[in-house]
Amino acid sequence: MKILLLDAGSSTIKSHLFAIDQTPTDNVPKPLWQAQADWGKEKGKTEFTVKAHGQRIVDILPTTVQEELIKHMLDTLLNGKTKVLDQLSDITLVGHRVVHGGPNYSRSMLVTPKVKAEIQRVASFAPLHNPINLADIEAAEKVLPHTPQVVVFDTAFHSTVPDEASIYPGPYNWYEQGIRRYGFHGISHQYCARRSAAILGRTGNREQPFRLINCHLGNGCSLAAILNGQSIDTTMGFTPLEGLMMGSRSGTIDPSILTYLQRVHGYSAHQLEQILNKESGLKGISGLSNDVRTIEKAAQEGNKRATLAMAIFIYRLRYFIGAMVSVLNGVDAIAFTGGIGENAASVRAQTCAGLSFLHLQLDQTKNAASPPDQDIATPDSLVRVLIVHTQEDWEIARECWHMLQAQRSIQ
Ligand code: ADP
Repeated sequence: MKILLLDAGSSTIKSHLFAIDQTPTDNVPKPLWQAQADWGKEKGKTEFTVKAHGQRIVDILPTTVQEELIKHMLDTLLNGKTKVLDQLSDITLVGHRVVHGGPNYSRSMLVTPKVKAEIQRVASFAPLHNPINLADIEAAEKVLPHTPQVVVFDTAFHSTVPDEASIYPGPYNWYEQGIRRYGFHGISHQYCARRSAAILGRTGNREQPFRLINCHLGNGCSLAAILNGQSIDTTMGFTPLEGLMMGSRSGTIDPSILTYLQRVHGYSAHQLEQILNKESGLKGISGLSNDVRTIEKAAQEGNKRATLAMAIFIYRLRYFIGAMVSVLNGVDAIAFTGGIGENAASVRAQTCAGLSFLHLQLDQTKNAASPPDQDIATPDSLVRVLIVHTQEDWEIARECWHMLQAQRSIQ
């Protein structure tokens, strides 16, 4: 079966086509075809990149309309050097990543008018993401009207987080309105949890639990405390702003800072959202960039704010790992994933150096080489440390495959 994935962000749509002929394992196949439309670079235009058959073709299109971009994507599946299909009806299913599933969706869903209405209803919780995801679904429905569509939510993996961790200690009616901790990066945490268990040969059960802390450190950063494959807590909350310090997001701060800025300096809600999401974190403290590579280089050259930015980043990471150790009543493995987690050896080394109280010891030579999908702790370390190359596209494809099997078994 051929599964087409669409992942729409604020200025990009990324798409992959996977062929899955047997029950999918984590032997991740290369996609048959992949495409990216990026309209964030030049006003009114979209840079369009397609890869297939070892070819990479880049075009500039004079439009930013989602439906036209998806049409163009499908055209490159059928024609030219990147042709991989004879007809669009060869696509069995279209899978979409949706950031926020709200309180009612704890698993992937087949798109129906009711599901779309719910994605719309919770759009006020995720105004930067859900409206774009919905527009992407509706554009795909127009272009592929007879192909089933599935939505895979970034919040769903965390639906197992218990009430005491997911309900904020504000007034109870917040919870009744849907204001609670949802958690994000669920697709990545779910993949890494399964992959970590496979690398270590430990799935865990009641007698011999497997306690994993997965550290997804990319532009957005979050931890998940995972017990026997299930999320029991995570650092992001009502929105992806809570928790760790991130590339340009602050993570957790005292909420009174916001009311102070409103009251004394007249900031609007929009300005505050902009500051917290775009002008804080590594970028806000360093004043240079949200990219760890740039900041580490500046720190090595003696830039004090770059040094401070990395120090706060590592401090908060260790602080929240400590909280997750307590949530899990111990820890068997810590996995690092995402652009920073997989590549920044110094971040892993400094984080682990502060966790020696757990008798965790990193093999410094292995760590320096950043080997994907490997255990980088010393043999006698009491906690295993893994680098896991996250495969979110593949995880969405797997979810879609399982969804379709479940659907067929009902019919
Ligand atoms: P996203 O969350 O947007 O998917 P990624 O997971 O790709 O992002 O992470 C991007 C971040 O990873 C960059 O901003 C940078 O800070 C970090 N990064 C990528 N490569 C390296 C590297 N070789 N060394 C250190 N940090 C890196």
